[in-house]
Amino acid sequence: MEETNISRDFIREIIDADIASGKHSEIVTRFPPEPNGYLHIGHAKSICTNFGIAAEFAGRCNLRFDDTNPVKEDIEYVEAIENDVKWLGFKWDTLHFASDYFDRMYMLAEQLISKGLAYVCDLSPEDTRAYRGTLTKPGRNSPFRNRSVEENLELFRRMKDGEFAEGSRTLRAKIDMTSPTMCLRDPHMYRILHKDHHRTGSKWCIYPMYDFAHCLEDSTEGITHSICTLEFEVNRPLYNWYLEKLDIFRSRQIEFARLNLSYTVLSKRFLRKLVEEGFVNGWDDPRMPTISGLRRRGVPAAAIRSFCSIIGLAKRNSTVDIALFEHSIREKLNKTAPRAMSVLNPVKLVIENYPEDRTEHFDYVVNPEDESAGTRATPFTKELYIERDDFMEDPPRKFFRMGPGREVRLRYAYLVTCTGVIKDEDGNITEIRCTYDPDTKGGNAPDGRRVKGTLHWVSAAHSFPAEVRLYDRLFNKENPMDNEDGVDFTSHLNPGSLSTVTNCMVEDHMKNNEPGYVCQFERKGYFSIDPDSTPEKMVFNRTITLRDSWKKLHGKKK
Ligand code: ATP
Ligand code: MG
Repeated sequence: MEETNISRDFIREIIDADIASGKHSEIVTRFPPEPNGYLHIGHAKSICTNFGIAAEFAGRCNLRFDDTNPVKEDIEYVEAIENDVKWLGFKWDTLHFASDYFDRMYMLAEQLISKGLAYVCDLSPEDTRAYRGTLTKPGRNSPFRNRSVEENLELFRRMKDGEFAEGSRTLRAKIDMTSPTMCLRDPHMYRILHKDHHRTGSKWCIYPMYDFAHCLEDSTEGITHSICTLEFEVNRPLYNWYLEKLDIFRSRQIEFARLNLSYTVLSKRFLRKLVEEGFVNGWDDPRMPTISGLRRRGVPAAAIRSFCSIIGLAKRNSTVDIALFEHSIREKLNKTAPRAMSVLNPVKLVIENYPEDRTEHFDYVVNPEDESAGTRATPFTKELYIERDDFMEDPPRKFFRMGPGREVRLRYAYLVTCTGVIKDEDGNITEIRCTYDPDTKGGNAPDGRRVKGTLHWVSAAHSFPAEVRLYDRLFNKENPMDNEDGVDFTSHLNPGSLSTVTNCMVEDHMKNNEPGYVCQFERKGYFSIDPDSTPEKMVFNRTITLRDSWKKLHGKKK
């Protein structure tokens, strides 16, 4: 893959050292999503890091579904996540489900009980909270803390057998209720949940808590470096405590800063709200920062990978300017996207002195950045469409496009001079008239006269009307989550994030392409064919415009 010059960030330095010291001979990482939503570009950062590191060190990376919470999870998400990881260009070594380890987790929990390091607690959730203390006040021991090993084992088995009501009992680790590290104040290991699980069905009615489960999952798979986001830093002592007390393989947890992007939200919980409350049209709405949304919008996987590599790994949380992501998208598409001419807001242009029955073909350069893309024969006829806003009836001097009496270049074709317009009874221009200079074939005048404006066009007889969806940022606030104004993040949604344009004129050859195809419409941006397309009506998404605000502000950044 393309990211070869990766600098030695702090995680890679740790791994370098672990290899140098002989601690590990093979590096094993994992990407552990909870199947409770679709992946977003923040997850892509984690995916690129975990899979990237495994590849660089000739190690392995697993895909593991962290499906320990039966309430919010679903098989739909499992399939979508697998699909997204593959589409991003990565192959996992083995696929795992945390739920496959439920038996082993239960067994290890019993081991902790037998060692006197875990107990069944009957405190209500409210009392548990009260006993826990605060950051400034130590907690108090639960009155159930000194149950005998035998009693704990029996009660835990009865919990598993479904004898107790939800919430009536928990299994807790016996650590230290006065610890300044809050997560060590006898954390919960298991809770009772009389809920079916999407994989284990009704087998279990107790489910492990994240902190207990995750380290065991890592250890069971022999994960050498368990890379996660910063919010888990406070739980690291507990992660290590479980592995140490159980005396099983010690994975090492390393935290990095999660990716935040301006003008969007990267959290499944909030993205789900947008989907469920109909603010967007599903998880794969092209405005969503989800992998499936970006894919549908036309963003190439390579652009996502290169963006993740450019931003690198940080130890402190910050927000990345979405303009940098857009810059990565343009950089990739500029090199790979075939060009085409399409007119988004068409007005007819009639060449008065061009023969009615003539069709010429011009060699259209498919991609100036990629010679191997070759040329395409583009038909030219008497009746064309051009952009309505490429014409002004009374243009200022600096307007280099079309106006009465002015000469412009039709890309690859001829120089034409406007002779007038035809209007309907309401005064709207229905047709622009012009004449062409037959000596300017290809677009250059033999006498060397200079013509500044170059317009794109399509032949009326060789184009068809299509729908184009134009997108803008999903939120009009840079950080929609900061909540300083006390209003819900949805009130910062950009009402203009989607505008639909119908009857755009697109060259006929576009009909040969499938949904997912991405091209550049000259002067208008990069576009992808949307899966909503039918043989009767094609739909295009604008992936992104051509103007690069990042490049303008920051110069050429690699
Ligand atoms: P969300 O907050 O969006 O629900 P999550 O952390 O709950 O995300 P998980 O499915 O648990 O989602 O995450 C899988 C992996 O992806 C975890 O290792 C998590 O740390 C990582 N991850 C999630 N969001 C980001 C992000 N914004 N940047 C980097 N890594 C992330
Ligand atoms: Mg999570």
